[in-house]
Amino acid sequence: MGNRRIQILKAQKLLNAALGEPVSQSYVYETAAWGVTKKQHDYFNQVLGYDTTLEPLELLDLCLDIERQLGRVRREPWGPRSMDIDILLYADRVIKTKRLTIPHALLHKRRFVLEPLAEIAGDIVHPILDTSIADLCAAVNGQSSIRKMGFA
Ligand code: ATP
Ligand code: CA
Ligand code: CA
Repeated sequence: MGNRRIQILKAQKLLNAALGEPVSQSYVYETAAWGVTKKQHDYFNQVLGYDTTLEPLELLDLCLDIERQLGRVRREPWGPRSMDIDILLYADRVIKTKRLTIPHALLHKRRFVLEPLAEIAGDIVHPILDTSIADLCAAVNGQSSIRKMGFA
């Protein structure tokens, strides 16, 4: 919701302030909303890679805190939101707790995640599926088109 480009720039700034400059940064991709029946605006999606000493749960708390700063209010699942920051991968760690699942549980099913992720980490192997991100991206099918924007 709101000016998507400004929202994404604000999220980058807040993440970088806490984590330092990203080691990798994909372009921004525009995609139709996923898993919804109601008409929604298209989303901007982007993947950033960071080197961090924060533990996964500390990183999750940071993401949720930045979402709140950017006006996130949780309404219905997958509803319109001002910002959503998910942890996709954390090195080759596998975590499954009440608050946190890593790798992100739906990563391998979403083209809007796999395309930007493949741009910066195509060779990384999914620690559960034992398949590279590039291969997962090539195999994902049946989803609406993705437009790579001219900015990151
Ligand atoms: P989806 O999981 O389908 O992308 P969502 O991002 O819209 O859905 P949210 O409402 O933003 O879901 O998050 C709900 C909860 O998911 C968070 O409060 C967090 O505890 C949990 N969660 C589990 N694994 C992760 C992860 N890898 N990254 C971010 N949040 C996660
Ligand atoms: Ca999400
Ligand atoms: Ca989320």
